[in-house]
Amino acid sequence: MIVRCPFCNYEDSKVTDSRIAVEMNAIRRRRECTQCMRRFTTFETVDLIMQVKKRDGTYQDFQQDKLINGIDAACRHTRVSHDQVRTLAAQIKADLMASGHREIESRVLGEIVMEHLQKMDVVAYIRFACVYKRFKHINELVEAIRSIAPGGAVSTQEIEDGSCH
Ligand SMILES: [Zn+2]
Repeated sequence: MIVRCPFCNYEDSKVTDSRIAVEMNAIRRRRECTQCMRRFTTFETVDLIMQVKKRDGTYQDFQQDKLINGIDAACRHTRVSHDQVRTLAAQIKADLMASGHREIESRVLGEIVMEHLQKMDVVAYIRFACVYKRFKHINELVEAIRSIAPGGAVSTQEIEDGSCH
């Protein structure tokens, strides 16, 4: 990409600093013209922010709406509100962008969501874990529940509400 100097129209500049402007989906670069030495700033908008690698090896664009829908489904009839889900999805996206990665496995994305839900609501966590972890055995589900509720803090009712079946 050619970035012309706004002062002398020269075609070559050197980047002195790059930052991610998360709220704008953009990368902000400080540049210095190599001819007139003046400094200026550019914003490069990034459309395909992140690629999600699915289990079958294919890629999809990261879709915040899809992420929100997935978390919303897990949070139905829990203490977690739709606004909280939206905030969480925006936070996860911002974290991913700040990490500088350009692709993430859907499995890893699911684990990031689970880490957050674990702290927010046990039923939502278990529901989400059922979908994303695809527990092969009931013991794995029991272990997952134990790991978040040492000492039996989860009631039987909560486990029933959140169970896979
Ligand atoms: Zn210049």
